[in-house]
Amino acid sequence: MEHVDTLVIGAGVVGLASARALARAGREVVILEAEGRFGSGISSRNSEVIHAGLYYPPGSLKARLCLEGRDALYAYCARQGIAHRRCGKLVVAATDAQAARLDAIEANAEACGVAGLQRLDRAAMLALEPALAGASALLSPDTGIIDSHALMLSLLGDAERDGASLALQAPVESLHATADGIIVRVGGADAMTLVASRVVNAAGLGAGALAQRTEGLAPAHAPTLRYAKGSYFVLQGRAPFSRLIYPIPEAAGLGVHLTLDLGGQARFGPDVEWVEAPEYAVDPARAAGFADAIRAYWPALPDGALQPGYAGVRPKLHGPDAPAADFRIDGEAEHGVGGLVNLFGIESPGLTACLAIGREVAARLA
Ligand SMILES: Cc1cc2nc3c(=O)[nH]c(=O)nc-3n(C[C@H](O)[C@H](O)[C@H](O)COP(=O)(O)OP(=O)(O)OC[C@H]3O[C@@H](n4cnc5c(N)ncnc54)[C@H](O)[C@@H]3O)c2cc1C
Repeated sequence: MEHVDTLVIGAGVVGLASARALARAGREVVILEAEGRFGSGISSRNSEVIHAGLYYPPGSLKARLCLEGRDALYAYCARQGIAHRRCGKLVVAATDAQAARLDAIEANAEACGVAGLQRLDRAAMLALEPALAGASALLSPDTGIIDSHALMLSLLGDAERDGASLALQAPVESLHATADGIIVRVGGADAMTLVASRVVNAAGLGAGALAQRTEGLAPAHAPTLRYAKGSYFVLQGRAPFSRLIYPIPEAAGLGVHLTLDLGGQARFGPDVEWVEAPEYAVDPARAAGFADAIRAYWPALPDGALQPGYAGVRPKLHGPDAPAADFRIDGEAEHGVGGLVNLFGIESPGLTACLAIGREVAARLA
């Protein structure tokens, strides 16, 4: 059986950032990706926002890794010439009654270590974004947008320069933790069995199922993931805002917000729809619900201006009625299997946090 030092399963932004960090630390890294190209999972179906870190519980992995990852990502983008823009975002209170929610978001963000937030009254808000409706807003100057594909290409390039290699169409079918290493069964046209000293399960939506196919891992450490689909609609015509615009967040998502891509195209979403299995069709009938939500902060949305865009699916560690869960980075200390790191529930802000998650994974396997 061929021996590999370190296997990373999944070539999304988190797997690639982990592979980069491990290769930098001197590991011999092989990345196995089920699909025919890297980054075609959650990492290509998101908002491409560099989050400032306003909403996560202080002390949580999400809070810490978002802040560390955000700063590392801005520095990395500048160094590598990856297209990005620190455009800022406004969280808008529709009414004076909602202003207390902005107080709570601001206090939470500050407890997480986020600096530079500004409260704007209605006049100050309209001075920045005249098309907005609302009573007041919170300005987050450190929120930005990024070309996530350029980021992934750069992470892969770095990892390859440090000796890592990527195998596509290499779906991992099962793992078996033994005293001599982790036996990895790979399917596809070139099916093979490998033994690895270290394995990172960064399989995104498939991470829970793969953990359940890991012999030697107790069932308590192999969660069943739930899927929260988010659809986007794109705006036909010019974007009415130059910053990202968010309503007050809702239970499982951030509310139907407006993000911009680097070309200035506006898109709205993602909403939250719990599904049994990942699927990506955008139902045009959802446009009406989107329009209602958008008109709360942009009453001038023209009729018929929303076109179905794309959808992504969040890998959730909880169902619709439970509170939001933290990222799970399970290493030997958590599950007792030496050399194995499982990444579960890496939903937003996983793109923002990728470099920090990669560092964390490499540290767990040091
Ligand atoms: C709607 C939506 C909006 C979001 N917006 C943002 C945002 O604006 N900002 C932000 O910071 N984060 C955002 N996120 C979160 C971010 O996109 C994710 O955290 C991140 O992309 C997760 O990357 P990943 O590498 O873990 O998963 P993925 O990109 O899905 O990569 C996992 C890879 O593993 C592969 N795989 C699965 N099973 C196997 C197997 N058995 N063998 C081999 N390969 C396998 C898959 O094919 C896939 O390529 C958003 C997420 C969603 C769903």
